[in-house]
Amino acid sequence: MRDLLLATHNRHKVSELRQLIADDATLRAHFRVISFDDIDFHDDIIEDGQTFAENATIKAKVGVSMGYITIADDSGLAVDALDGAPGVYSARFSGEGATDASNNALLLEKLEGVPYEARTGRYVCVIVCMFPEGQTISCRGTCEGHLLNAPLGEGGFGYDPLFLEANTGKTFAQLTAEEKNQHSHRGKAMRALAEQLIAALASQGEEE
Ligand code: IMP
Repeated sequence: MRDLLLATHNRHKVSELRQLIADDATLRAHFRVISFDDIDFHDDIIEDGQTFAENATIKAKVGVSMGYITIADDSGLAVDALDGAPGVYSARFSGEGATDASNNALLLEKLEGVPYEARTGRYVCVIVCMFPEGQTISCRGTCEGHLLNAPLGEGGFGYDPLFLEANTGKTFAQLTAEEKNQHSHRGKAMRALAEQLIAALASQGEEE
């Protein structure tokens, strides 16, 4: 069994990614999942890429440079009425010291007066998996929805209380963790990545 490092300090992402990897029997059998906290790595990583893929790659390289097979996710919310903002700036939308509450407050402010039909948007997630041996796998997942004008629900994190997911008709904050993973951008990207990762393991002759 090899260590698989999740290159994030975000405990919500760690929990969602851990569950998604545990959901797959092959990945479960091959990897012991660890996070930055488990290896006592607390540095902030400068995410100065212009795209989700660039930022995920920046984070994955940090783990790989320490010798781990590394998975990194970069994700965010793209709102049509705001020309795709906050996009790659989702975590720091409201500036230095941004919190989920301040980001959500700014989003509501910017969308004030925009009618429901025009409050469309999507979560986007790019997950990159890098091997110290040099191989890189990358997958993308998206999830469509509407931005409400008041929060609903207590679960999830980030913009979840404002994001009404199209298929369930509920906000991500109203879904259980399992339901969110089933529909989310991160769930879709991770399941696609799992398929490729299993194929890569097989080609490396490690498949049991
Ligand atoms: P990252 O850590 O640089 O990828 O920033 C991701 C940011 O996008 C988070 O801090 C949230 O603001 C937002 N985000 C990404 N995925 C989710 C999600 O599943 N729910 C809510 N917000 C999310």
